[in-house]
Amino acid sequence: MNEIKENIQKIKRQIAQAAETRIQTQMPSSNNRPNSITLLAVSKTKPSSAVEQAYQAGQRDFGENYVQEAIEKITTLSHLPHLCWHFIGPIQSNKTKQIAQHFNWVHSVDRAKIAQRLNAHLNTANQSNECQDTSLNICLQVNISEEASKSGIMVEDLFSLAEVVDNCDKLTLRGLMAIPEKNAGEASYKKMQHLFNQLQAQYPTVDTLSMGMSNDLAMAIKHGSTMVRVGTAIFGARA
Ligand SMILES: *Cc1c(COP(=O)(O)O)cnc(C)c1O
Repeated sequence: MNEIKENIQKIKRQIAQAAETRIQTQMPSSNNRPNSITLLAVSKTKPSSAVEQAYQAGQRDFGENYVQEAIEKITTLSHLPHLCWHFIGPIQSNKTKQIAQHFNWVHSVDRAKIAQRLNAHLNTANQSNECQDTSLNICLQVNISEEASKSGIMVEDLFSLAEVVDNCDKLTLRGLMAIPEKNAGEASYKKMQHLFNQLQAQYPTVDTLSMGMSNDLAMAIKHGSTMVRVGTAIFGARA
């Protein structure tokens, strides 16, 4: 068995374990809509051969941060059915057209202008992606640790951005994304879970809390994550 396949199986066991403790510890009130947990394999800086190995191990969802690099892989691997591509990096507005054309999900929307541009491009573009009909799945990135240097919208502006996205006809508001800072305490994760529950109560399309990476997967799942974005633990350290 190759290493990538072994790593994926190991992560899946960790996810299942963390999910069990979540079910045991969760308050009934916050468990009114139990969610499964999707593994998003973050393949940035890794070659398409690595993505293909993961695909052969059954992995279908992949996350990328850099538009040009991602499009090369998406094109190279377009013969593989049911691949689903997620854009998770910071977004420059001059890249929105390419992102709208090539990706199925965007996790890093943090301002209205970006949402509106993605939507406008979808209204003119021909979508040929397999795992979506015509709409682009959107998560709003929250700057939960309130770091000046980090991308993400501040909590006080989150719900007005949600409304903007919900009003875009080609965008489907799926949920929230966060990258809690390295030594963030449990409070940041709790806060995200609370915001997610609030958003879910307002919008029936919301079902995704994109939170947790190689090093904080268990903590994120404990606090309601439905999608973990794992790079290093699957593909190894990045150069
Ligand atoms: C790189 C990256 C990841 C993966 O991080 P690892 O620590 O390698 O698992 C997840 N999410 C985002 C937004 C990233 O940029």
